[in-house]
Amino acid sequence: MPGPLSGGPVVGVLALQGDFEAHGKVLRDLGADVREVRVPADLGGLDGLVIPGGESTTMTLGIEREGLGDPLREFCRSGAPVFGTCAGMIMLDRRHLGVLDIECRRNAFGRQIRSFEADLRIPGIDGPPVRAVFIRAPWVDVCGEDVEVLAAVDGHPVAVRQGNVLVISFHPEIAGETRLHELFLSLTSARSPGT
Ligand code: GLN
Repeated sequence: MPGPLSGGPVVGVLALQGDFEAHGKVLRDLGADVREVRVPADLGGLDGLVIPGGESTTMTLGIEREGLGDPLREFCRSGAPVFGTCAGMIMLDRRHLGVLDIECRRNAFGRQIRSFEADLRIPGIDGPPVRAVFIRAPWVDVCGEDVEVLAAVDGHPVAVRQGNVLVISFHPEIAGETRLHELFLSLTSARSPGT
């Protein structure tokens, strides 16, 4: 595993609540320069942003408390890559930040404490299937036209992309699965500087 490289993308992880530390570790191991985002000024100069899993009600309250709603929407609309996982996917839907043309169903697979795992094939990720760990996960109930479904479980979308925003309802950061973070980082380097 390569160590942190100077000159890697500068990536923010929303750090109000949830498993932001695990994402930070995966991203650092992949060579990114990671900044924790707690207030609007922390979004300045970032090449991309991760919104982690956690508890979407608590995260919503934190976003309101810190005045992060509009700055987060602006960041997403700037075209910079954004990667949301689980509660992070919920935060980006129509009923929350309104960035993605999707509606999520919270705790859609049941309220079980126990997680379940599934092997998923995701376009753009080669090699063995992605080992996906679901923890009180949402699925996507309603998808707009511009939303590309990348993977589904029992017919319910669990990974979708709309432009620069990629969201998944599972937790690669706790499964030793780094390929989705690599895909996200490849989107940051695909952008030309200054755009
Ligand atoms: N069930 C949580 C919610 O609705 C999401 C769970 C997660 O992020 N692992 O906010």
